[in-house]
Amino acid sequence: MSFTSLGLSAPLLKAIKEQGYDKPTPIQAQSIPIILKRQDILAGAQTGTGKTAGFTLPMLELLNRAKPSRDKKAHHVKVLILTPTRELASQVEESVRIYGKHLPFKSTVIFGGVKINPQITALRRGVEIVVATPGRLLDHISQKTINLSKVDFLILDEADRMLDMGFVNDIKKVIAVLPKERQTLLFSATYSDEIKKLSQKFLRSPALIEVARRNTSSETVKQAVYPVDKERKRELLTHLINKGKWTQVLVFTRTKHGANRLSGQLEKDSISSVAIHGNKSQNARTKALADFKAGKIRVLVATDIAARGIDIDQLPHVVNYELPNVSEDYVHRIGRTGRAGHEGEAVSLVCVDENEFLENIEKLINKDIPKIWEKGFKPDPSIKAEPINMGGNRGARNKPRGGNGGNRNGGRNSNSSRNSNRSRSR
Ligand code: AMP
Repeated sequence: MSFTSLGLSAPLLKAIKEQGYDKPTPIQAQSIPIILKRQDILAGAQTGTGKTAGFTLPMLELLNRAKPSRDKKAHHVKVLILTPTRELASQVEESVRIYGKHLPFKSTVIFGGVKINPQITALRRGVEIVVATPGRLLDHISQKTINLSKVDFLILDEADRMLDMGFVNDIKKVIAVLPKERQTLLFSATYSDEIKKLSQKFLRSPALIEVARRNTSSETVKQAVYPVDKERKRELLTHLINKGKWTQVLVFTRTKHGANRLSGQLEKDSISSVAIHGNKSQNARTKALADFKAGKIRVLVATDIAARGIDIDQLPHVVNYELPNVSEDYVHRIGRTGRAGHEGEAVSLVCVDENEFLENIEKLINKDIPKIWEKGFKPDPSIKAEPINMGGNRGARNKPRGGNGGNRNGGRNSNSSRNSNRSRSR
C-alpha cells in the first residue's frame, strides 16, 4: 500500500514525501479512503499511530477538491478540529501546516491561557482550518469573533480525553452552532459508554476503524515493572538512566508537586531535567518541550494532564515513576513511546503501595507486565503497603478503584473536576 494509491493529489504527496514517510500507517490506510468518500468515522486509535495525518491528509484533499468559493478572498472556516489540550492543538495545527504546505489554505490555533486579541486578528484575516480547545472556542463563539456557519468538517481528536476533562457540555454547545450537513470524524484511544453516546448523537452511520485492539497497550512498546521501595525510586531512576545511557526520557509523576521535586532531585544527580505541569505558564511548557525535543534536556517530568498529546518522534523511554490511579492513563502514558512502528520502552517503578493499581492496569491491558528485580534495589519485604497520597491533584479521581479495571467514568464530570481541569486548559 502506498500513499499514491489512496487517492491523494500531488501537493499532498509532495508534502508526505518531504516528511520522509514511505507508506501509510494502518490507521491512515484505513481512514483516508473512507474519509475521501465523505463518510463519518469513529476511530479507535492511540496517539503515535499516525492518526493526525490520518485525518489531516484527506481533509486537506477534500478541501482542495471542493470548488473554490466565488469570493476567493473570503476565507470561511470549513474545518474545525477540537482537541483537549493546548499542546495537542498546537501540534495538530503544525501538522496541518506541514501537510498543507503546497496548498493555499490558512489555519490557526485557538486555546486559552494566552491573549485572545491575536486570535481575533487571525480569525478576522480569514482561515479555512481552525484547531481549538473547547473552552476558548466557546469564548470566541459567544463574542461572535468566529463564524462557524460554513463548517464542512468537524474532527474530534482524543475525544475520550475531552470527556475526561469535563468538556462534554462545551463540545455539545460548539456542535450546536455548526451546520447539520457536515462530515464528522471522532478519534478516541478508548471506548467508553460516553464516547458511544457522543458518537450516536453526532455521527451519521460512521465507519468503525480500530487499529489497536480496544484498551490494549501498543504492541511496539516493551513494558517492564521494577519493584522497588518508595524511598528508593529516585535512586533507581538515576541508576537506570545512567546504566542504560538513556538520553530522552519522559517521566510521569502523579502530582505537580511530585514532578517539581523529582526534577530538582535529578538535577542534583547531574541529570538535566525540567518539570511540566498545569501550574507552569504556556511559555514555560512550550520551552521545556522544545528543549527536550532538541536534546538539551535529558528528562522531562510530567503529570498526566501536562503530557497529554505531546508528540515527540520515536521517544525511546517512558518511565512511570508512580503508577496512575486511573488504569487507562497507563495506556495513554506508554503511548508516548514506540510511535509509528518504532520500538519503545516503558518502565514502571512500583512500590508495595501501588500493587492494586498494577493489578488494575494488568487487567485492563489483559496481560501481566514482566517484572525485573534490579540488583541492589530489591524491596524490603517488611515494608507494608500504605494508602497513597494523591496530592489533591484531581479531585474526583483521587480514590483508587479496586477491581473495576480503572473504569474512567466515575465522577468525571463533577463540577469541581470540570472547572479545575478546564481552567488548566484555558
Ligand atoms: P500521531 O499518532 O498523529 O501523533 O503521529 C505519530 C508520529 O508518527 C508523528 O510524529 C508523525 O510525524 C509520524 N507519522 C505519521 N504518519 C507516518 C507515516 N506514514 N510514516 C512514518 N511516520 C509517520
